[in-house]
Formats: sequence, structure tokens, C-alpha cells
Amino acid sequence: MPELPEVEIVARRLDAALDGAVVESVLAPGMNVMKTFDPPLSALEGREITAVRRVGKMPVVEFGDLALLIHLMSAGRLRVFDKRASLKDRASRVLVRLGDGRELRLREFGTKQRAWAKLLASDAVAADEMVASLGPEAWPAPPLEEFAAAIDKPRHLHPLLRHQKDISGIGRSWVDEILWEARLSPFKKGTELDAAEIERLHAALHVLGDAIDHYEETIGPEVPDKVPMPLKVHKHEGEPCPRCGTTIEAVFFSEHQMNYCPEEQTGGRVLKDRRLSKLLK
Ligand SMILES: [Zn+2]
Repeated sequence: MPELPEVEIVARRLDAALDGAVVESVLAPGMNVMKTFDPPLSALEGREITAVRRVGKMPVVEFGDLALLIHLMSAGRLRVFDKRASLKDRASRVLVRLGDGRELRLREFGTKQRAWAKLLASDAVAADEMVASLGPEAWPAPPLEEFAAAIDKPRHLHPLLRHQKDISGIGRSWVDEILWEARLSPFKKGTELDAAEIERLHAALHVLGDAIDHYEETIGPEVPDKVPMPLKVHKHEGEPCPRCGTTIEAVFFSEHQMNYCPEEQTGGRVLKDRRLSKLLK
């Protein structure tokens, strides 16, 4: 799933590629993809794309005073193509046909249709329920006090940091990297952190900025559907910790996995499964 650094590089590259492009027409072949109906998509015809930006993990495509707020969910991708999609392409969700022949396409892979878009007045995006309910952006990192308040919750850090209403932009991949960087257990609770641990966790958010810098250096004008992510710990179970050499361990959940260095994060304890993990803090 695209997280803050991946959506940021997509937004930057699309912003550069699409600036000033004129919309010819817009189609929404995805069933139920549009969560708004007024204004209709036809209101975009003849408008210029004025910006592509990001809020949390959501791309926002601006057309003057109208904006398309997009939630990619786990399998959505936003990309520009030189030619129009075949209408038989089942991955198509929203197609923004441009006057120069190109097409901005929201596609979704797999069988589930979960990605969605809303066409809103640009000045109404911030007040949209999905945006207004977001916690502070994880990058650029919020001030320490704001961050400390955001994570002062009696929940394990792994789900807490991924909870967009508490802090926005972090998902299942980068949470492992941030906790490893901070040398904190994924099962420690937000309310259990002392001042030094909060500072370490706050400082560790730099891995998101580092990832964006990495993408700026390695990704050209077109962002591939599957961005090669510079992850050191996530999905690296069985490999030596890049810092201390201890074997990286994993905890598997039904839809995701968690990776950590037992030596540096859990006091040497290896968490075998979810049931056992719940007993540890
Ligand atoms: Zn280690």
C-alpha cells in the first residue's frame, strides 16, 4: 500500500507532468468509485490541472477551484499514460482524458473495489470528513509537543502509528522502519513511553523524509506501480539487523506482518505469534 513517501513522490511527479494540462472528459468506470455526485465529473471538462498534491496518504488533483480527493486504499494507483485505456480494462476506476491525448488514470489491482474519489470545491477539501479527521502529518514531522500529544494513547505503537486519525501518512511498511529506528517495541503502548522514548520516536520520523529523498534521486518522471521501497527491516525476517546483526524476526497477522529486531526492540524476546505477542509490552 502506498504510504506517505510513495504518495508524495507520485504527487510531485504528477504535478510536474500535468501542470496546465486541459481536461477533455472524465469517466468513472469503477462501480461506486465516486463518493460525490455534485458537482458532476463533467464539471471538469475544459479545466486545467493546476496542481497535484498529497494529504496524508491521499493524492489530491486540483483543477482550479475544484479538486479530486482520492483514496488509493491498498491496491489503487494514480498514474499518467500517453494513451487512453481500453474500456475493457477492468482495473480502471477514474479516467481523466486530457486534450493532449494523455490520460490520468486511477486504477486498482485485484478483485476488490475499495479505492474511491470525491470531487469537491478546492476550499472544501480541508473540511472533508476524511481530511478533517486526520492527525498531524508524520512528515514533515510535527513539533515534539504535538507529536507527544498525538501518541499519548493506551494502545500498542504499531497500530497507533498507523491510525490516520492520530498521526497521518504511516502504514504497515514504514511503521516497522520507524519503530526499528527508534529502538522501540511495537507492543509498547503510547502512554508507556518516557520523555526520552518519545523524543527517539519523534526523531525517527526522519526515515519518511529520507525515503522521499531516496525516491527523488532514484525515480524518474514516471513512478512505477510498484515503487522499490528502501526498507531495512519490514519483510526482512531471517536477515541480520543492519545495525546489530541480530536476526530480524516477524509476527504474522491475517493481512499484514510486523518485523523487528529482538535485541534492540523487545529486550531479546522473540514474539512468535499474535496470541503470544498480546502478552508482551
Ligand atoms: Zn538490531
